[in-house]
Amino acid sequence: MTAATTITARNNRATHTEGRSPEELRELVSHWGAELELAPAEDIIEWAVATFGERFCITSSMGDAVLADLASKVAPGVDVVFLDTGYHFVETIGTRDAVEATMPVNLLTITPVQSVAEQDAQYGKDLYKTDPDLCCALRKVQPLQQSLASYDAWATGLRRAETHNRVIAPVIGWDAKKQKVKVSPIARWSDEQVERYIAENGVLVNPLVYDGYPSIGCWPCTRRVAPGDDPRSGRWAGTHKTECGIHS
Ligand code: SF4
Repeated sequence: MTAATTITARNNRATHTEGRSPEELRELVSHWGAELELAPAEDIIEWAVATFGERFCITSSMGDAVLADLASKVAPGVDVVFLDTGYHFVETIGTRDAVEATMPVNLLTITPVQSVAEQDAQYGKDLYKTDPDLCCALRKVQPLQQSLASYDAWATGLRRAETHNRVIAPVIGWDAKKQKVKVSPIARWSDEQVERYIAENGVLVNPLVYDGYPSIGCWPCTRRVAPGDDPRSGRWAGTHKTECGIHS
């Protein structure tokens, strides 16, 4: 987050620059989690911006810019964290660039400590083949953990409709591993709601979505999905792995 970044909610100008204790954050979750469970996504984001101010960010994997669009309308200049693993499709990087060029957001590209070449040198070539959990830990989980250090709350585009594993994604939850409030404003949205929002608001979408990739991760671990199949079945296809670890 840059010092110049200012986040302004529609109705509240948030000025919280000091972090809250984990106890205070957990208390917010227990109170507001039930209160906002059925609230519109815009209201959930507005609450987060008003509550956490500059200590709130959203994350995006650049499958689409729905969450960034929602958040930037509530809080122009909102921080959007993108993890550049070094293994993204060119279309994903292009979507990131388009979001940065056309939307009122403060886009923050986070990279792992090691380049892919350095990782290959230390752990052996193509760690994603030999130990994908470690590869995700090094290229996703650890960088995100570090990048969230200056925030109290982060928002994700998690949706319960995406996969059975995400059924319990709460709208406002406590991320015990990160000791942060985790906000999922579109957790209750159906696929149809997402499509309608994209069409009505002219939201940027990664072109791979229209090319058989409803869920997009790193190119070595993402495959096309047949129409009607689980949208996330193309991620780590043929392995036991279903999540990268940033949501567990
Ligand atoms: S998704 Fe694949 S390439 Fe990307 S970090 Fe995880 S294991 Fe590595």
